[in-house]
Amino acid sequence: MSKTATSTREVPETTVRNRSQYADTLHRIDSDHDEPFPACWEQNRDGEFTDVPTVAYLPHYNLCGNPECFGGEQA
Ligand SMILES: [Zn+2]
Repeated sequence: MSKTATSTREVPETTVRNRSQYADTLHRIDSDHDEPFPACWEQNRDGEFTDVPTVAYLPHYNLCGNPECFGGEQA
């Protein structure tokens, strides 16, 4: 029953997306990396990631639902 301090509604100005043309998800940036990496397990996926301005992509992309990114609430 632990609650994280991060708000699920808080979306940073910059997020990370996979460079794949099939990517449709925005991830929270993993601050442990110098390069743009998603904070969730998707960082282990093949492919390259790039940081993007969130507002420009939000209309076409979904926010990642993993708890490390923007999922937050656990069922
Ligand atoms: Zn993610």
